[in-house]
Amino acid sequence: MQPIPTLALPGGAIMPRLGMGTWRMGEDARRRKAEVAALQLGLDLGITLIDTAEMYGEGGAEEVVGEAIAGRREGLFIVSKIYPHNAGRAGIPAACARSLKRLKCGQIDLYLLHWRGGENLGDVVEGFERLREAGHVRHWGVSNFDTADMAELAALPDGRNCAANQVLYNLESRGIEFDLMPWCESAGLPVMAYTPLGQGRMRVHAALAEVAKRHSATPAQIAIAWTMRVPGVISIPKAARPEHVRENRAAAAIALGPADLATLDQAFPPPSRKRRLEII
Ligand code: NAP
Repeated sequence: MQPIPTLALPGGAIMPRLGMGTWRMGEDARRRKAEVAALQLGLDLGITLIDTAEMYGEGGAEEVVGEAIAGRREGLFIVSKIYPHNAGRAGIPAACARSLKRLKCGQIDLYLLHWRGGENLGDVVEGFERLREAGHVRHWGVSNFDTADMAELAALPDGRNCAANQVLYNLESRGIEFDLMPWCESAGLPVMAYTPLGQGRMRVHAALAEVAKRHSATPAQIAIAWTMRVPGVISIPKAARPEHVRENRAAAAIALGPADLATLDQAFPPPSRKRRLEII
């Protein structure tokens, strides 16, 4: 199987461009075994990036991740996120310590502010920098930040140490292509595309089916490959079913050509003006 493409973070560290999401995991004990098995299958297939958050299952998803990665932490890239209401001076180290305990590991590779929610951004940057200095996190970043938020962040002391912005990006939600994506690209900042499959409800448009047929692939695989066509984008589909994990892993090998992209552009037109960042 082809290796998963990677990108270099602003500091030079390598990050895989395909990962596994975990939203809705860790919410129901009856599903836990299958969720751990799905993540472990992904790891076995070489998907080394896992995206989680303290919010998912109120810590339950981090525990599922902790179980899945037990004994095999080395070489993985673990992303987690802090609630804005925990992102104060005292709250940041405490929340990170709780996440590390649930993940049963000593370091989070990328720690994100989940969304803007009344926190003091300067305190967040300072708190994240302290976590980095102490080695609790390797990199920090943000999520659901629109272009103006990114500019505000970049103007703060150490604000340019932000390593990534995780935002909604899929064929049906292309607004970021107008301004946020170019902003991130010029700052050398990767974009993590969340909900690349529209939470599994993406309209199976005739165009998507047509491109899928050309590649002997499924529409979901094309939707993932489409987010990954941009070298600065990391795609993090969530899958609890083993057949979905296998499909998503294989999507990393699909290269869409100009004719495929034209077909998809016609069905899902790119933005022609600024749209406010959509958030799920
Ligand atoms: P998603 O990845 O777009 O879709 C997940 C759904 O698609 C699940 O129902 C899954 O089913 C299904 N699926 C997965 N692979 C498939 C395939 N090959 N064919 C058909 N269906 C497939 O939605 P998401 O969970 O919202 O987004 C992905 C991740 O992004 C999240 O899990 C989370 O880690 C992150 N996220 C971050 C934010 C943020 O604010 N930062 C917001 C939303 C999401 P099964 O599970 O049954 O396999």
